[in-house]
Amino acid sequence: MSEINASVITIGDELLIGQTIDTNSAFIGQELNKAGIWVKRRVAVGDVYEDIWNALDEEKKYSRLIILTGGLGPTADDITKPLLCDYFKTRLVRNESVLAHIHHLFVNVYKRKAALSDANIRQADLPENCTILHNEHGSAAGMWFETENEAGEKVVVISMPGVPYEMKKILVQEALPRISAYFGGDIVIHKVLSTFGMGESMVAEKLVGLESRLPSYIKLAYLPGYGMVKLRLTGRGNNRIKLEEEMNHFYQQLSAPLKDITIAENDDTLEMIIGQLLQQQQKKMATAESCTGGYIAHLITSLPKSSSHFNGAAVTYNNEAKENILGYNTTHWRPWGQ
Ligand code: AMP
Ligand code: MG
Repeated sequence: MSEINASVITIGDELLIGQTIDTNSAFIGQELNKAGIWVKRRVAVGDVYEDIWNALDEEKKYSRLIILTGGLGPTADDITKPLLCDYFKTRLVRNESVLAHIHHLFVNVYKRKAALSDANIRQADLPENCTILHNEHGSAAGMWFETENEAGEKVVVISMPGVPYEMKKILVQEALPRISAYFGGDIVIHKVLSTFGMGESMVAEKLVGLESRLPSYIKLAYLPGYGMVKLRLTGRGNNRIKLEEEMNHFYQQLSAPLKDITIAENDDTLEMIIGQLLQQQQKKMATAESCTGGYIAHLITSLPKSSSHFNGAAVTYNNEAKENILGYNTTHWRPWGQ
């Protein structure tokens, strides 16, 4: 299969002004990646007709799969559906099974007593030439359109609602199986090494030789975090056995020079790694926290079975609490390095 790139276009003024964080793109990126489809570009636009139109025109130059989220609500500010009708030169037709589903949601799930409003009913009006992607959790159906780019190649455009839990279900259950059947997919393998205690540039110095030996289809990414640098090798190909062999080979070359600072040969978080080490060594921990306000305890206890290695936390914020609860002498306490 030739390489298929995807573009994600997120729609909504709330994304541009930072009122809503765009979590949809991250989820779509992860899922497409698993399916062997590379997300080449991500674009965010407001609820503006020309901007959405131009984004579609532009992304068709780069990608054969374009995924849109947002702008499908029943209110006047959401304009994606009429725009798609114009873009794909079609008209809205009422879909009776979508209407029945909206009825079901309002009566059985939302327990609404009032009759459906016109705006609710209009959610069942969908472009005539699209394939409808069932939205189990909501009234705005997903839509699948097929078109062509300037080179005459098939391009798929998928539109889904912005509400994350609705979008996720449509993507996973309705869109991805169709995408895989339509495009096939490369094999993508990731391997992650987590290091602790050395800055990104110093880690990079140890890997100069490796980077120059990597073939074009295996990429090395540096993902610095608090105190940690994660290194991710991503390989892409169409022969799983061959790719796995090569990935193992280069992963060994990656890990050897970083042996002393490696804390995990995977993508686990620091709290997961701490939990595993404590369990292995049958040890327990507790935290005494001040400025973190219990955040460390929160991270540790957000994992299942943490009670077997975590006793508890004392969040002692003011000096009185530090002295009374921890017996800590705060005479020389210098918060914020003062
Ligand atoms: P819409 O389909 O435009 O009516 O979106 C409904 C709601 O979904 C919005 O109010 C946002 O809270 C949320 N939403 C829209 N786009 C995104 C996105 N890219 N990431 C996370 N949430 C979103
Ligand atoms: Mg919106």
